[in-house]
Amino acid sequence: MTDTTPTPSAATGPAPAKAGRIAFLGLGHMGLPMAANLVAAGYDVAGYDVVPAAVDAARAAGIPTAESALDAAAGARIVLTMFPSGAHLLRAYLGGPAEPGLLAQADPGTLFLDCSTITVEESREAADAALAAGHRSADAPVSGGVVGAEAGTLTFMVGADEADLPQLMPLLEVMGRKIVHCGGHGAGQAAKICNNMILGASMIVSSEAFVLGEKLGLSHQALFDVISTASGQCWAVTTNCPVPGPVPTSPANRDYRPGFAGALMAKDLGLALAALQSTGVAAEIGPAAAAIYQRYAAGEGATRDFSGIITDIRHASAGGPAAAGDGTAGDGPAGDDAVAADDSVGG
Ligand code: NAD
Repeated sequence: MTDTTPTPSAATGPAPAKAGRIAFLGLGHMGLPMAANLVAAGYDVAGYDVVPAAVDAARAAGIPTAESALDAAAGARIVLTMFPSGAHLLRAYLGGPAEPGLLAQADPGTLFLDCSTITVEESREAADAALAAGHRSADAPVSGGVVGAEAGTLTFMVGADEADLPQLMPLLEVMGRKIVHCGGHGAGQAAKICNNMILGASMIVSSEAFVLGEKLGLSHQALFDVISTASGQCWAVTTNCPVPGPVPTSPANRDYRPGFAGALMAKDLGLALAALQSTGVAAEIGPAAAAIYQRYAAGEGATRDFSGIITDIRHASAGGPAAAGDGTAGDGPAGDDAVAADDSVGG
């Protein structure tokens, strides 16, 4: 794994004017601000989304748009996708009975860059199909959420041939702050799901610890002061603390508005679970975390931050002995409308 975090001397690839057209497909929560940053940096972007309202929003944000995905991809040097799932990606690449696919229509040698979060298998299948059609391929899923997409501070986990990095890096540097080349095709997706499996599991156990602390009469601040400087230290506590007060920018201070929604954590843990099963890893915590977030996302966790899992744990613990309240009294400003800092958004 190569850490290619941008430095002032790292931008050795083509300047925006020489980079050629970028077809940017998928202008949703993440794609729109990412495409807007490319436009602002001087890149020639042709955006498209299957949802007309998303195309309208992109145009309003100053992103040039095309009439269709194929129009956007015509003559493009790079086709960048930011889709909900691998099924969307493969359908767009391969087409269907009534619609030609992007791979068949693009100019030979086009670089297909997928930034969606999908399974490792789907990612490798997409790369194999792109290569078989005479193109090049890279996967570069992101972490950092919508706030990171807007600020251009995403982390990109890249699976690509070394030879394609000079073309990729300047582009990713516009949209991200940290870029790690993890290996060949699919390696970016692999790194992303491994990381998010740790994130999901550590948020659950951190939340369990805070509820246990409440039951034992500990204040949130006292427990935070210990965990954040002791061996239990983790991002789930120090940056996305599941109780209000100790970390003012964490979603707990704004009634668990995301941040990183429980539904997205459930999706990523589902991808991790599929990988655990297909590789035969004897994991117990990852699958348990996946089941817990599936349950959370089926209810209010669909739209709440993934750290809101603590409210489920607290409710399920309500019948136990010696409850010390709901844990919010005297522990900081619940409902504070703080906006998350760039590095406080998971996913
Ligand atoms: P989203 O649903 O808001 O956007 C996806 C867009 O893709 C939609 O607007 C959809 O209409 C469009 N689309 C689907 N098929 C298309 C096609 N064939 N052509 C053109 N457009 C098409 O999702 P999002 O929140 O932007 O997330 C995108 C990806 O990024 C997902 O894979 C997600 O897991 C990942 N991700 C999201 C976050 C986050 O915080 N939202 C964080 C990290 C990673």
